[in-house]
Amino acid sequence: MMSTRRLPSLFLSHGSPMMALEPSPARSFLAGLGARLPRPRAILVVSAHHDASFEGGRATVTASPAPPTIHDFGGFPDELFAMRYPAPGDPALAQRIVELLAAQNLAVTADPTRGLDHGAWVPLSLIYPDADIPVVQLSIASSAPPEWHYALGQALAPLRDDDVLIIGSGSITHNLRAYFTTRPPIDAPAPAWVSDFTAWVAGRLDTDAVDDVLHAVDRAPHGHDNHPTPDHILPLFVAMGAGADGQSLRARRLHASTTYAVLAMDVYAFGEETVAV
Ligand code: ZN
Repeated sequence: MMSTRRLPSLFLSHGSPMMALEPSPARSFLAGLGARLPRPRAILVVSAHHDASFEGGRATVTASPAPPTIHDFGGFPDELFAMRYPAPGDPALAQRIVELLAAQNLAVTADPTRGLDHGAWVPLSLIYPDADIPVVQLSIASSAPPEWHYALGQALAPLRDDDVLIIGSGSITHNLRAYFTTRPPIDAPAPAWVSDFTAWVAGRLDTDAVDDVLHAVDRAPHGHDNHPTPDHILPLFVAMGAGADGQSLRARRLHASTTYAVLAMDVYAFGEETVAV
C-alpha cells in the first residue's frame, strides 16, 4: 500500500541462511511484510554480520551503486550460494549517513566496494523479492556498549522522514553452540531458557523499559545463554533508537516463532504511527 505514513524502524531475526530456502512461519511472515508497509524509497540494514570491531575498528556503510551479494557462510547447499540480491545501492544516502553520524561524533566511513551480507539479503529477498529498492548496509560494533548502538539508532532516526526503512537485522536469541550440539529439527519447540528470554524482552519493550532491554543479556533470564556474544542483539538496540519518540518506543511485536528450537525469530516494529501489520 502507498501512504504518507512515516515508516517504523524494524528489528528482525534473520535466523539461519536456510530461511531463504526452507519453509517456516518466520519465512512466511517476512514474505508478506513488504506489502503491508508503506513502500520505502531506500532501505538501511544494520547487520549483525557487518561488525566494525572485526574490521579494524572501522565502522563502514556500503556506498557501492551496485552492492554485490556476499555469501558469508559455509556448509550450505549450492542453491543458497547461487542466490543473488541485485538491489541497487544508494551512494548519496551512504554519504548522508556518514554526515548524520559525524554530527553525533559517530565516525563511519563510506566503503565503495563492500556488498550485502546474508543478514541483509536473506530477509530482503523475502520482504522485497523484486530487489528494486536501493539498499545500504551499516556496521555494528560488537565491542561498543548497548548505549552506543541505541545512540546510533537515534542519530539515524531522521532518515525515517525521508522514507528510508531502517532495519536492524540480528536474532532475538543466538546460541549456535546450542544448535550444533543437538541439531534440532526446524520445527522443534523452544526450550524454556529460550522462551523465557524472549517473553522477558517482549514484556520490557511493551513497557518502554529501555534500560532493561539494553542490558537484557545481564538482566533477563538466561541472557548469557541466549547471547554468548552480543552481536546478534545489538541491531535490536539500533532499531529501538531509530524508532523511539522521547521515552516511548511504540514497540510492537509483529511476529514470534522459533526455528531449530533455539533460534527465536521475533520481529518488532518501533515508532509505528498507524498500524497496518
Ligand atoms: Zn546471523
